Amino acid sequence: MPDAPVLLIVDDDPQARGVVEGELRKRYGADYQVIGAGSGDDPLRLLGRLRDDRRLVSVVLAGDSVSQLTGTQLLARVREFHGTAKRLLLVDWEFGPPPEPILQAIALGRIDAYAGRPMMMPDEGFHLTVTELLEEWAKSNLPRPEVMRVVGEEWSARSHEIRDLLSRNVLPFGFYPAAAGPGKALLEQAGATAATLPVIIMFDGRVLENPSNIQIAEALGMQTSPGTGLYDVAVIGAGPAGLAAAVYGASEGLSTVVLEPQAIGGQAGTSSHIRNYLGFPTGVSGEDLAVRAYTQAWNFGAEYVYGNPATGLRAEGPERVVTVAGGDEVRSRAVIIATGMSYRRLGIPSLEALTGVGVFYGAATSEAKAMKDKQVFVVGGANSAGQAAIHLARYAAKVMVLVRGQSLAQSMSEYLVKEITSTPNIAVRHNAVVTGGTGTCFLESLTIRDQVSGVIETVPAAALFVLIGAEPRTQWLPDDIKRDRWGFVVTGTDLMAGGHPSESWPLRRPPMFLESRLPGVFAVGDVRCGSVKRVASAVGEGSVAIRLIHDYLRGD
Ligand SMILES: Cc1cc2nc3c(=O)[nH]c(=O)nc-3n(C[C@H](O)[C@H](O)[C@H](O)COP(=O)(O)OP(=O)(O)OC[C@H]3O[C@@H](n4cnc5c(N)ncnc54)[C@H](O)[C@@H]3O)c2cc1C
Repeated sequence: MPDAPVLLIVDDDPQARGVVEGELRKRYGADYQVIGAGSGDDPLRLLGRLRDDRRLVSVVLAGDSVSQLTGTQLLARVREFHGTAKRLLLVDWEFGPPPEPILQAIALGRIDAYAGRPMMMPDEGFHLTVTELLEEWAKSNLPRPEVMRVVGEEWSARSHEIRDLLSRNVLPFGFYPAAAGPGKALLEQAGATAATLPVIIMFDGRVLENPSNIQIAEALGMQTSPGTGLYDVAVIGAGPAGLAAAVYGASEGLSTVVLEPQAIGGQAGTSSHIRNYLGFPTGVSGEDLAVRAYTQAWNFGAEYVYGNPATGLRAEGPERVVTVAGGDEVRSRAVIIATGMSYRRLGIPSLEALTGVGVFYGAATSEAKAMKDKQVFVVGGANSAGQAAIHLARYAAKVMVLVRGQSLAQSMSEYLVKEITSTPNIAVRHNAVVTGGTGTCFLESLTIRDQVSGVIETVPAAALFVLIGAEPRTQWLPDDIKRDRWGFVVTGTDLMAGGHPSESWPLRRPPMFLESRLPGVFAVGDVRCGSVKRVASAVGEGSVAIRLIHDYLRGD
């Protein structure tokens, strides 16, 4: 039996520590070892000893003062020893907003949360905070039941795609490299060969050899074809905008179908920590937000159809018909286009060939853990690049952020710039352009040119995360749906000129807000021209579109 993970409470005040220790032991003692430490113990040495003994530390709780350090100072150093431990500052409860230093510590990523000390027994508010931190920590640190076991080559692009798909859809799975003992044994048991890698062994023994995404979805019992009847609304894309439309559509009595070829959550689902979404004061992972929204829409009766992208859209009288790769068609009275954007590529052939095997587009949260002790690079100077760098720094030995411009401040939010500057294993290189890379099976080195000096340098690299902008996913749309020069869908008053709809608008009434040039087809979220590219605005537009669809269906 491995040792239980540790819950560590550090506080100089023995009485206050005793209360917290007692509460933690009562609630979590069966599964975690609760350790209390005070002024006599050197907390940093204790953290070092736990690391040397290979103990898992889940949450460190600290009071205001611990030995020579403040609670915040101690918590800021926890990750030097335990890279994934959560950090909770205990404060004496006072009404009103928390003091500035606490807000700053959260903004700079030095603590994860703060909570008042337990005031009564049991104090459910206190326990809720601890439990939420434990849940977050457990996701990436405790073994989970494996619904699927994936056997594949560690550096194969398809293996990476499957792992990314499963983890973004929050499906518990284990990955077994085909070359190692357990992987070989699984292949043998399944009667599969290396020629059919990657192989998936399902919880009930079914074996999928080099499966497509559709085959994986079907094996999990997911719906992969739409119904043949007429839906009220077809939502294309299950990012935040599409999920919000699904929640509001289904909850307001509209028969709602959602098409999603990849993973729920869209781009937001790849974000490790969304801090600016309403109602989550200490942030929420994109994955968590997506799962909650998905379940919410599901509970209201929304139907999800997985695996194939929409490939076309046409009007047939009052019906709107969406064609889907694979030949199916979805018939509905109204359509919401919520297909978002996808990442701009580097366009360097040597690096394109290494996509998924060292070169990753997006934050690729599923890869971060694998970067332990590695030197990794992030290209890009906007918020998504900043967030990726901070997340990767928890695992990698060093993260180098490559920026074309002379300063991050031009393109990145101030709070992220501050966090990057104060994270010791992140370095920023300005005026830097990636021009090439090498690697036979996986990325081994990068070539970087300094735009000012012209000097070209080749550096060893384990991974490159590319976050350099994005393109709308609108190539599948017909010409009836007007787009701007970048491909974003034009809607509402942007379809008007001089106070009148353009000639190609077919109705007497003007287009509604969010409505495209094809009446009854609405565009929401990042895919829409002029939208604010944020989770909250995507969610807002998704819900507003449903209100407009009620009007449209009534013929207003
Ligand atoms: C790493 C990262 C971090 C971010 N952090 C923040 C943050 O902290 N705060 C914030 O406010 N915003 C953040 N954003 C931006 C935010 O995630 C986006 O603005 C938001 O996800 C847009 O939602 P959407 O639903 O419009 O589009 P997307 O999220 O792009 O979702 C579109 C969905 O449509 C699907 N799709 C595409 N084509 C088709 C097709 N043909 N058929 C069917 N489905 C299709 C896609 O698979 C995808 O699931 C971040 C983005 C990234 C990438």
